Amino acid sequence: MFRRILIANRGEIALRIIRAARELGVESVAVYSTADANAPYLEMADEAVCIGPPPSAKSYLDISRIISAAEVTDAEAIHPGYGFLSENAHFAEVCETCGIQFIGPPTSVIQSCGDKATAKKTARAAGVPVVPGSEGIVDSVEDAAVIAKEIGYPVIVKASAGGGGKGMRVASNEPSLRNAFSQARAEAAVSFANDEVYLEKYIENPRHIEIQILAGADGQTVHLGERDCSVQRRHQKLLEEAPSPALDPELRRKIGDAAVAYCEASGYRNAGTVEFLLDKHGDFYFMELNARIQVEHPVTECVTGIDLVQWQIKIAAGQNLDFTQDDVKIKGHAMEFRINAENPERGFCPTPGKIDHLVLPGGRGVRMDTHITAGYTIPQHYDSMIAKLIVHGKDRPEAFRIAKRALQELQIKGRGLANTSQLQRAILDNADFASGNFDTSFLEKFLHDHHA
Ligand code: ADP
Repeated sequence: MFRRILIANRGEIALRIIRAARELGVESVAVYSTADANAPYLEMADEAVCIGPPPSAKSYLDISRIISAAEVTDAEAIHPGYGFLSENAHFAEVCETCGIQFIGPPTSVIQSCGDKATAKKTARAAGVPVVPGSEGIVDSVEDAAVIAKEIGYPVIVKASAGGGGKGMRVASNEPSLRNAFSQARAEAAVSFANDEVYLEKYIENPRHIEIQILAGADGQTVHLGERDCSVQRRHQKLLEEAPSPALDPELRRKIGDAAVAYCEASGYRNAGTVEFLLDKHGDFYFMELNARIQVEHPVTECVTGIDLVQWQIKIAAGQNLDFTQDDVKIKGHAMEFRINAENPERGFCPTPGKIDHLVLPGGRGVRMDTHITAGYTIPQHYDSMIAKLIVHGKDRPEAFRIAKRALQELQIKGRGLANTSQLQRAILDNADFASGNFDTSFLEKFLHDHHA
């Protein structure tokens, strides 16, 4: 096992990793930008190193500064968290060259899974159903028009290097495809410095179902069931739950097996998530693999009792899994509510600022993953997610009851501050959501009706 690891991230996930490391008896080094210099979680790490000014490009995304920090603090491995450098194959390669273990899959796997067109080819070859679409990158709008005609409208143009819902455009006919194609390309160029796009059939009103994977150092691969992440705004998740109200044991087994087959075919190691779309007919399609820990990993931890972040560290240190697929049992129902410092009444605009008054919920079935404290100032420079409320009950109705009272307990107050907890409560009160009858179009309709 490592003696000491460095965490190339910030906020709640940095704290999550500090905690996992400590429980394993591993020391942690936190890095921070000057915007995070006063963040209380830094004191929970064994050491903290300033790596630069607030802009991410000069701190959390600056590979040379992070590597230097690891070298001066004698860290043997780097945990990248999510976002920032977590799926950057170049970063993983630099770590390797410098003799530092990257806590994640091998560089070549990050590369092949990160390229969505290549990933779909691997999936197809492994017998995993993929969304009908182009064989790979589509170079011209003329080619796009021909392919769209073959697969049938509506279609979605997606950035090959995409992430976070960026570089995606839906088109329902040829004239709109022409616009969508150039818009997606331009957005991809700006967001990912890569303007390659591909085409998919647009699945109408699907559910987003993803499977958590763990693959040990020897390649033994198990899945830990699904998460339903269909509550999304602009392709970004807001609330996640496990198990999905839409799956029966048979479908759960089929999707789980497909996810494992894809991971085995791609030589996957460590923790990963295979994302699928599930349509109204119960057909599911591979979308992509996320080669990192996900924001919503705690719901899986609650229902399986398996610590995913500890396993990431153990696998990177060369360990094999000490359990098999048959040992994985899903117990109860868990839900995660993302608490973002945003104002849903004002187009979800971010509300950075100082927290004057804070009450965090607790009690049976409640887990709060957050780095915020009273007196903490939410910086303006980073993602607006400041906390995750995770609840775990014996079944979905009990999870609802715990969630409602926990959201009621939560208070985050300060000048100009707003957050998404009221909205989360309103979602729990919605009849369609409560009955399990929802898909990726749910939140948009809900917000529309809510404000009407
Ligand atoms: P990103 O990597 O940007 O998060 P994904 O490929 O994971 O992009 O897609 C994000 C979301 O976009 C999905 O959860 C789904 O809601 C929507 N989406 C993506 N592809 C399709 C498709 N072919 N049909 C319908 N919706 C899609």
